[in-house]
Amino acid sequence: MTETAPLAALTPADLATLAGIELGDARKLVSSYHRTGGLPRIAPAGVRRVALERARAVTHTPALTVESRAASALDPFVKYAFAAPDGARFEAVRIPLERAGRYSVCVSSQVGCALACTFCATGRMGLARNLEPWEIVEQIRAVRAELPAPGRVHGVVFQGMGEPLANLAAVVQAARVLSEPSALAIDGRAVTVCTSGLPTGIRALARELPAARLGWSVGSALEQTRASLMPIERAHPLREVLAAMGEHAALTRQSPMWAYTMLAGVNDGDDHALALARLAHAFADTYGRRPRVSLVAYNSIGPGDPYDRSSPERESRFRDVLSAEGVAAIRRYSGGSDVAAACGQLAAG
Ligand code: SF4
Repeated sequence: MTETAPLAALTPADLATLAGIELGDARKLVSSYHRTGGLPRIAPAGVRRVALERARAVTHTPALTVESRAASALDPFVKYAFAAPDGARFEAVRIPLERAGRYSVCVSSQVGCALACTFCATGRMGLARNLEPWEIVEQIRAVRAELPAPGRVHGVVFQGMGEPLANLAAVVQAARVLSEPSALAIDGRAVTVCTSGLPTGIRALARELPAARLGWSVGSALEQTRASLMPIERAHPLREVLAAMGEHAALTRQSPMWAYTMLAGVNDGDDHALALARLAHAFADTYGRRPRVSLVAYNSIGPGDPYDRSSPERESRFRDVLSAEGVAAIRRYSGGSDVAAACGQLAAG
């Protein structure tokens, strides 16, 4: 039996090549799939019957099951738990954007994660497997299908379960489909890929998806503290990550976003703020782009939680120290903490 490809993972150009059909036909069939979740029974207007038959012969349409939806009572976030046909479970979060009717979807790229950051619930699970491109695309389709009218998915952020740069080929293919006008039509510049800091992946991302934005989880600007929070620091120390981010910035002409999860008594002291400011200046001086720094409040990751959230006073003092050093930082609102949908909390059981 010849292997067929999941249609959700194909751009029109991929489908045209695979099925040996014209690009115009492929576009209409891909568009039909993204509207309905399947291929039409009879060829729609303007599509040759033979093109539909060929497309059907080389593709299949696997589906994710939505196992649960948890809507936050605190804010309009919704956490989705999905099951793949093999039983693998993972999560995505619908995030309302400031402009009414616009949403972003925070998607998973792996089932679990091998990188074991100590402040992250997913990091406690270990890695079960990579997600396939279609499994990434389908998370967004499933969230989109339930948006209140006239809502639309404006952006996608790879910050759910998993390290996206450890599954780069699937992330790149999914992002290509997402930004296809006949598929999900999400602007490539509204796709953000967040990493714990894998230098080879950062460089490859710049080449493969130059429009996508790069986010980096800092952990700490002090190497020792970073190593205690993020084991990856031992394999790829700060200076290596910065060099890769610098190359990314030069190639894409974009500033990276630095996300700093604040942990009480661990990385929220004045010395940490000064180190972060120095690192941001060093990056800007060396690579000509100022990183956009955002401070993320810590959310509990469950039993045996080793950390506490920084107090509002500490957080504000941290920002003041940054600001006195000439570094503006925004506070990223991470919602849905009552349904464990907030940053660092995703861990499908
Ligand atoms: S923060 Fe990201 S890279 Fe670190 S363990 Fe969690 S999912 Fe993996």
